[in-house]
Amino acid sequence: MHPNTTIAYIGLGSNLAEPIKQVQAAIEALKKLAQSHVIKVSSLYLSKPMGPQDQDDYINAVIALETKLTPLELLDTLQSIENKAGRVRKENRWGARILDLDIILFGNEIINTERLIVPHYGMKTREFVLLPLAEIATDLMLPSLVAADRESVNVLSQNIANNAMIKLQLN
Ligand code: ATP
Ligand code: MG
Ligand code: MG
Repeated sequence: MHPNTTIAYIGLGSNLAEPIKQVQAAIEALKKLAQSHVIKVSSLYLSKPMGPQDQDDYINAVIALETKLTPLELLDTLQSIENKAGRVRKENRWGARILDLDIILFGNEIINTERLIVPHYGMKTREFVLLPLAEIATDLMLPSLVAADRESVNVLSQNIANNAMIKLQLN
């Protein structure tokens, strides 16, 4: 791997306007990203909404992206893909959305800035992140400032409460 290349994991989600197509189109858009290469794609999963329950179920997936972009360049790029898909940011947190692209991990980087928190703050408590992530990166360890505290994606995914999430079998 090129010294400036990092493997980032991106979580995808949609529950509006044909969510399966939205997630598939976003994966296609990510495959065309400059200075980047999609190396793994999880199955699609059907999950219950987090927060407000008066909205449709979600389609989720996680991809592994080998990239030379910086974390903020990647965030800008993901937000531009969300905007092109027609995402409108609303006041209500966790409300229905056409496309959400979150940076789950960026190599072993730990980032805590106003625009970007990595590892994603919710990754350890969200089954729609952990299960697809474990599918494509079972042996992955989360970064930690204390080496002995590094947690394994596999263990986290096995311990997460199951909220009737379904792995889709698509042809
Ligand atoms: P949640 O963050 O709980 O998953 P959300 O994805 O719906 O909610 P958004 O409206 O997509 O939230 O993003 C709000 C802001 O979160 C973005 O403008 C971005 O600056 C910030 N953000 C912080 N960390 C991350 C990250 N790891 N990936 C994507 N956005 C992030
Ligand atoms: Mg999100
Ligand atoms: Mg987001």
